[in-house]
Amino acid sequence: MTTSTDKINLLGLTRQEMEKFFDTLGEKRFRAGQAMKWIHHFGVDDFDAMTDFGKALRAKLKACAEIRGPEVVSEDISADGTRKWVVRVASGSCVETVYIPQGKRGTLCVSSQAGCALDCSFCSTGKQGFNSNLTAAEVIGQVWIANKSFGSIPATVDRAITNVVMMGMGEPLLNFDNVVSAMHLMMDDLGYGISKRRVTLSTSGVVPMIDELAKHIDVSLALSLHAPNDALRNELVPINKKYPLSVVLDSCLRYMSALGEKRVLTIEYTLLKDVNDQPEHAVEMIELLRNVPCKINLIPFNPFPHSGYERPSNNAIRRFQDALHHAGYNVTVRTTRGEDIDAACGQLVGQVMDRTRRSERYIAVRQLEADAEAVARTGSRP
Ligand code: SF4
Repeated sequence: MTTSTDKINLLGLTRQEMEKFFDTLGEKRFRAGQAMKWIHHFGVDDFDAMTDFGKALRAKLKACAEIRGPEVVSEDISADGTRKWVVRVASGSCVETVYIPQGKRGTLCVSSQAGCALDCSFCSTGKQGFNSNLTAAEVIGQVWIANKSFGSIPATVDRAITNVVMMGMGEPLLNFDNVVSAMHLMMDDLGYGISKRRVTLSTSGVVPMIDELAKHIDVSLALSLHAPNDALRNELVPINKKYPLSVVLDSCLRYMSALGEKRVLTIEYTLLKDVNDQPEHAVEMIELLRNVPCKINLIPFNPFPHSGYERPSNNAIRRFQDALHHAGYNVTVRTTRGEDIDAACGQLVGQVMDRTRRSERYIAVRQLEADAEAVARTGSRP
């Protein structure tokens, strides 16, 4: 189990925080950049390996600081190249991180919380309740661990991880400060140098924090919609009772407009048989999203025991997709990756992350890659 110490964990410090740290040590600020390169580019966790630091500075660092990621419980590699890590965080809970390669791109799906308080009806992660927020070091630590598994990553070399989606376990906007710090590190050249269009935060719709997000960072945004009207969304995504659809969509539009550049909202919609997959739901969705620049990802539900939901038939899925497509939307049905390592998951993983959610993430990540590419290519709604 990961234990905490009184030492400052440098892994989760943003550039500003790192500079402040070296200031307090009475050291020059440029040391912050040197330390960050060692940590994030080369995956170093030993101050003695920082060869451009003198012996005295290394001793000073060892006395008050550490570089500590979450404990890796397991790492699995799928036949299709998908990788999955189960990591244990300081609270003792485990969360998952998934890497999906696709052509020249590699997307990492990162968790923000152990458990989740939002209790979406089709998500067994929510059924576990909330356990703990991950620290900034635990969030960025998932990127750090994944990068290390691909070897050192000097800035001059093509990196394996080109995209990150905050779409793992938990609602990222309910762990705001730590997630924002970690996303800054993902985008910082002294961190992982990933473009803002290739870092995506996925939310169920925590409206005040969507507004707050725009003041702090300009990453891409995805909304877990899952229902085209308030009555149904109140059942599927209970936070909708607090922030109904019109309010959530307005906040997403405000976020995108605050970025001052053309962006497309990603809409995620899990298709549940006879619940939200009927033609009238497609009609409602078309009307709901009429003025929202968006791209829609349909996610056929992947049943798990006692979920109470079923996957729609292929015909129903195609019918839903066609209806949206004919209305002018770019809509994609997701397919699953990494199922072989999913099947190999142990009991522990089963306790912290349900298959549906994992499969959803694998598929979602692939779609977000395609979206990012389309936006980068056209600069407008795909
Ligand atoms: S779908 Fe997301 S927000 Fe909803 S309970 Fe599951 S992890 Fe939480």
